[in-house]
Amino acid sequence: MSIERTLAIIKPDAMEAGHAGDIIRIFEANHFKIIAARLVNLSKQEAEGFYAVHHSKEFFASLTAFMSSGPALVMVLEGEDIIARLREVMGATNPAHAAPGTIRKLYATNVERNAVHGSDAPETAAFEIAYFFPGMESV
Ligand code: ATP
Ligand code: MG
Repeated sequence: MSIERTLAIIKPDAMEAGHAGDIIRIFEANHFKIIAARLVNLSKQEAEGFYAVHHSKEFFASLTAFMSSGPALVMVLEGEDIIARLREVMGATNPAHAAPGTIRKLYATNVERNAVHGSDAPETAAFEIAYFFPGMESV
C-alpha cells in the first residue's frame, strides 16, 4: 500500500441535482484528501478526449453529450490506496447493481448518469490527472 492520487469527477447530473456537497462530504468522511479542484464546462471534443478509451462503444456519443451538458467538478484526491478506495465508495457503474451506501446507489439516475467518475488504475489516473491538471504530478 502506498500514497496514490486519483481523478474524481462530480458529473453534470449530480451538479445539476445539487449533490456536490453531499458527495464531497462522503469523500471527507473517508479521509480522501482533495489536493486540486476545478469547475469545468467540457466541450464535446474535450469529453471525447477524456473518454477516448470508450470511442468504439455504442454509448460513446450519448456519454460525451452528457458529460458536456453542464458544469462538472473535477478533483485530484490523494491517500493510501485511493484509486481502489474511491471506486469502492462510488459503487458499481450501474446504480441498479451498486451496494447500499455507495455514491452511485444514493445519487445515480442510471448507468450513464451515474453521478461520479473515478480513475480505475494508476495508468489511467496519470492520464486523467494530466488531462485536467497539466504539469501536476500523478504520484
Ligand atoms: P467512470 O469511468 O465514469 O468512472 P466506470 O469506470 O464505472 O465509470 P466505464 O465502463 O469506464 O465505467 O464507463 C464510463 C462511463 O460511461 C460510465 O461511468 C457511464 O457514465 C457510461 N457508461 C458505461 N456503460 C454504459 C452503458 N452501458 N450505457 C450508457 N452509458 C454507459
Ligand atoms: Mg471508467
